[in-house]
Amino acid sequence: MQSSKSAGRSARAWLAGASDALVSVFFPAGCRICEQILMRASRVPICEQCLSSFEAPAERKCEVCGQPLGRWALTDGDSLVCRACQQKVYAFHRARSYGIYDGPLVKAILLLKWERMEPLGRWFAERLADIVRGEGEILAADVVVPVPLHHDRERQRGFNQAGLISRPLARRLGLPHKSMLLMRTRPRPNKQVLSLEERWESVRGAFATRPGSQVDNKRVLLVDDVMTTGATLDACARALLESGAKSVSGLTVARAARNPLPPPDSGNL
Ligand SMILES: [Zn+2]
Ligand SMILES: [Zn+2]
Repeated sequence: MQSSKSAGRSARAWLAGASDALVSVFFPAGCRICEQILMRASRVPICEQCLSSFEAPAERKCEVCGQPLGRWALTDGDSLVCRACQQKVYAFHRARSYGIYDGPLVKAILLLKWERMEPLGRWFAERLADIVRGEGEILAADVVVPVPLHHDRERQRGFNQAGLISRPLARRLGLPHKSMLLMRTRPRPNKQVLSLEERWESVRGAFATRPGSQVDNKRVLLVDDVMTTGATLDACARALLESGAKSVSGLTVARAARNPLPPPDSGNL
């Protein structure tokens, strides 16, 4: 009697332990992007094909902001610099991204943003850490800071998606992570699509360092999910530099393939 009871217990324990494997045998999971059946268990529910499609093909990029440039791009002397950076539009020192904001990468970022998919945040952080190491001095930093959400938005969502990337990134780089250093003092306008002018206007002066934050003479690595116009990274960089940061570099998972020039007056804020 006793032995059959313990056999039952160990069978139940075995079943509990193997339940993940059983579930994946009987109900194979599909890739959350292309819905193809996943062939191996992974904490990131995205297939290998989709993951490997994220990285942007090697092409000519602006040395300052990382904007992909066509063959026809004008150069500034010997260096490859986009029109915005020739006009010194951005307050950040350099910006780099992992992939182009297009196709499967758009879906992946939406999963991160709306489903709080933390393993995907860690997966992106690994790729961004490789970029930081590969760029050497260009992205060298003393502290990692996520682009903040306005507190109403963060309360509503329950988390800041940039933090899902910046925290594991800081850990990988062995740098302090300061999620409270910067704050968004003005919310994003309640409008789905913003024009280029509205985008720049909506972030102008919308960020500030928290009183008492120690940023003096620090090189800041600013992290976000997407760089669209560069206006947000620019506004954050201005707030950090005003508070005494030595330099600010931007690092995002994705960036828009085209980066239209900002309105003429936004370069001199
Ligand atoms: Zn897939
Ligand atoms: Zn540029």
